[in-house]
Parts: sequence; structure tokens; C-alpha cells
Amino acid sequence: MTRQLRIEPDGVAIDATEHETILQAARRSGVALPYECGWGSCGSCKVTLVDGQVALIFPSAPAVNPRDARRNRILACQSRAVSDVTIARGAGDWSAPTPRCVEQQAILREVEHLAPEIRQFTFETAAPIDFRPGQYAILHLGEGLRRCYSMCNLPGSAILQFIAKRYDGGHGSNTLAALQPGARITVEVPFGTCTLRRQPGRKVFVAGGTGLAPILSMIREAAQTQLDFGSPVDVIYGARAPADLAAADMLEAAIAHVAHSRYLPVVEQAPASWPHAAGFITDAIKATVTDPAAAEFYVAGPPVMVNAVKALLRSADVPITQVHYDSFG
Ligand SMILES: Cc1cc2nc3c(=O)[nH]c(=O)nc-3n(C[C@H](O)[C@H](O)[C@H](O)COP(=O)(O)OP(=O)(O)OC[C@H]3O[C@@H](n4cnc5c(N)ncnc54)[C@H](O)[C@@H]3O)c2cc1C
Repeated sequence: MTRQLRIEPDGVAIDATEHETILQAARRSGVALPYECGWGSCGSCKVTLVDGQVALIFPSAPAVNPRDARRNRILACQSRAVSDVTIARGAGDWSAPTPRCVEQQAILREVEHLAPEIRQFTFETAAPIDFRPGQYAILHLGEGLRRCYSMCNLPGSAILQFIAKRYDGGHGSNTLAALQPGARITVEVPFGTCTLRRQPGRKVFVAGGTGLAPILSMIREAAQTQLDFGSPVDVIYGARAPADLAAADMLEAAIAHVAHSRYLPVVEQAPASWPHAAGFITDAIKATVTDPAAAEFYVAGPPVMVNAVKALLRSADVPITQVHYDSFG
């Protein structure tokens, strides 16, 4: 059964099926709604329910507070229309072009161990899926178990590759790590707005841990399309210890094809023989980027690291419009 979904103030009307969220319906129809995490933690997709009824998939989603509930604010990524519905969108970037979101079955073809508890998963879909390097997919790993993972490969084929870490006690990452080649899952793809802007200028890419995945995809895009930014391109990749720098070889191989680029690994626990930087990622940024306000930053990794980098850049007067990030939580 389909319902009519009306989006104010533009008055755009689209159909929504009973199985899809408001966000999925909008993206399927080519209507741009803002979103980030896709599972209810960030609140980027909040809209006001003006009329009609919705079913909430995740009523206790972290991003919804009692004030939102009083003001009829709902998450487009966690609400399904159960009648004809009118929503009002808030402020935000509504026009960023991105491929339409699709939901497909994917078969796990290969699992490669890259570093302690870090694996690369290669999935194949029935048809090629379009995405922009830097974007991520939502993997359906079980009943009510959906987690985001960023593609590390390039679009243009039926292959989706992810680099994922297994966390002790983590339901999603343990389920993913236990999958064997041949396993079938559903993927929703693509999501995310941390994608490469192609204009010239100084670029700094910052990857913490598995934040490597979207950064690798963007660097591969720059390498494949022979982008020349005409300015230095620094790629800072941080982890706890050298052994945790998973896929550093793939990153270095891609960086080698990007003009004016440098690979700058940094580890917190550096052995005496370590020839590169030691310390936190923020230390490496301070040591490397002498004029941060003149640079554009791409940052991905665990929330604690992304927040530390954002705070550093704020204190260095870097305009927020020059900071693109994916926080993995
Ligand atoms: C936009 C986006 C993109 C992402 N891309 C990737 C990716 O490419 N590769 C990847 O491995 N993960 C990625 N993640 C994180 C991933 O979606 C899961 O959050 C992660 O795998 C943990 O899920 P879980 O169910 O195992 O853990 P949960 O059950 O949610 O948490 C269990 C434990 O794991 C710890 N934990 C959870 N997440 C993190 C984290 N990010 N850093 C440190 N500790 C953590 C928590 O402290 C907790 O103790 C991404 C997240 C987002 C929002």
C-alpha cells in the first residue's frame, strides 16, 4: 500500500510505501532531505510532522528528546507513513546531489584480515550500485540490527568493499565479523555527505582507525581521475600502534597517484624504531598544517577523535564550511 507524503514548504508530493521510511521514500523519489547516520543517532534528518500518522521504527532513538516529541519532530530515517502524511522540513543543505538510495541483496564474496580485529569485506550486488566516494551503506545484519559502514572502493561496479573493526561487546561488528563468504545480507546505499569537493586548494585528509575507509575511497577517486588540486594534499592516518594501520599499503598506493600529496602516518604507541610521527592525530595536524584556515579538511573516524579534530580546527578559526566529516557513532 502506498501513502502520499507531502513535504512543506515546497509542497512536493511523493509516494511512500508501507515498508520504507520517509527518508527512503524521499531519496527514492529524488527529493533531497538532509541526513547523516541513517539509524537515529545524529538527528540530522529531523522534520516536523504537520499532519497524518507515522510509525516509529526506533521510538527511543538517541536523537529524539522530549522537546522533539512535544513539538511533533520526528526522524525521517526512523518513521514510516501509516496514513497520508505532511511533513515540514527544517533548515539545512537540501540540494547536495547524491545518487538515489537503493536497497539490494549483497553476497559476501571475500573476507581479508588486514590488522588485529580489522577486516576488509567484499560484497557483490546483483546490479552496480552508484555512490560517491566517501559515502556509506547501512548493512542489515539481523532483526533490528542495522549498522553503517563506509565504502573504501570506487563506484562503477557491483562490488561494495568495507573495512570494519570488531569491538568487544559490539553486537553489529561481531555479527559482521562472523559472516562467512556466501552469506547474504540487505544493504541500503548510499548515505552521507562527506564527499570530495573537486575545487582546487589545500586539502587535508584525516583518518582515525577504520575512518580510513571513506578517506581511501576519496583518495582513490582523486588518483583515478587525476585530480590536481594545485596545492599540497596531506593524508594523515592515525591509529593506536603501527600494526593497527590497516590497509596503509592501499592508501599509500593511491596517494602515490595524487599530485603534491604526502602520506603522514601517526601512532599513539610508537616503538623506538618507528620512523614516523608519534602522538595523537591532533598533534600531527598541528605539526603539519601551518595555515589551517586556508585548508579544506576531510575527517573520518571514531567520535572522540572527530570531536577532538573539530575542536582543534574551531580554535584555529577554520570555517566549519571547510570541514567535512563522518563521525562513526
Ligand atoms: C556514518 C558512519 C560510518 C561508519 N563507517 C564505519 C566503517 O567504515 N568501519 C567501521 O568499522 N565502522 C564504521 N562505523 C561504525 C559502525 O557503524 C558501528 O558503530 C561499529 O561497528 C560498532 O557497532 P557495534 O554494534 O559492534 O557496537 P555497539 O553495540 O554500538 O557498541 C559496542 C561497543 O563498541 C564500542 N564502539 C562502538 N563504535 C565505536 C567506534 N566507532 N569507535 C570506538 N569504539 C566503538 C562502544 O564503546 C561499545 O563499547 C560507521 C558509523 C557511522 C555512523
